[in-house]
Amino acid sequence: MSNSTETSLLAYRQQSYGDDPTKVRDTNKYTDEYVRGFVEKWDDLIDWDQRSETEGSFFIEELRKRGVKRVLDVATGTGFHSVRLIEAGFEVVSADGSPYMLAKAFENGRRRGHVLRTIQADWRWLNRDVAGRFDAVICLGNSFTHLFNERDRRKALAEFYSALKHNGVLILDQRNYDSILDHGFDSKHKFYYCGEQISALPEHVDDGLARFCYSFPDGSKYHLNMFPLRKRYVCDLMQQVGFQRVDTFGDFQETYHEPDPDFFIHVAEKC
Ligand code: SAM
Repeated sequence: MSNSTETSLLAYRQQSYGDDPTKVRDTNKYTDEYVRGFVEKWDDLIDWDQRSETEGSFFIEELRKRGVKRVLDVATGTGFHSVRLIEAGFEVVSADGSPYMLAKAFENGRRRGHVLRTIQADWRWLNRDVAGRFDAVICLGNSFTHLFNERDRRKALAEFYSALKHNGVLILDQRNYDSILDHGFDSKHKFYYCGEQISALPEHVDDGLARFCYSFPDGSKYHLNMFPLRKRYVCDLMQQVGFQRVDTFGDFQETYHEPDPDFFIHVAEKC
């Protein structure tokens, strides 16, 4: 069987978490979780224009004010930020560990008149597969949450750090798990980019797992098992791997009351 046939057959698989889904706490699981049905639905329902409107020009401004030209999108997913940044004039390389996600991103880029430069790369071995140094690395859409142990997180952050030029910047976001762990889930804490038609609700949360169920209007349901990252912990890890300054925004605002934001956005400077 050719590689591409194999990849497309794999993409059509159902999600599978075995007898006890709460036991699945594995960094390598992400490639199985983003099955084709999930990704197609997600992209059909998320209005890219709506998502652009919600984010505004936050990322573009953070990058422009640092004179960024070359960006490495390490969690390309279906290509939303890669496309947005290309359209804003940045030179973008689009990486992801999931070949199926990259194929979808490429297709989405083509539909908007762009040819995405895609590279399949797992963050833990990023610099083995991605050549060159970048002014910025972005890891957005609550992606870092897929790493289930600290060694993988340190390794990934160290790889992001070394993919940057000496004065480069890493922008990485995460869901506000502190709020969920400390105060319980509040339905207003939805994915800001999920759209009204998708519900994203936690089925199980403990210190080592946040298992969310995504329900779609046609009745289909998909899951993601994620590690509930605490904000302070992520900032500390970034500093420990060498980032000199980390500023954290809450839902794109500089000032916020800790439990309120849905998302935190860390802007980490290398020097
Ligand atoms: N950034 C996109 C967005 O905002 O729409 C996609 C977000 S999606 C929640 C997470 C992405 O991270 C997926 O495309 C997944 O394949 C990728 N990913 C997760 N763990 C990874 C790893 N260890 N190495 C590379 N990519 C990974």
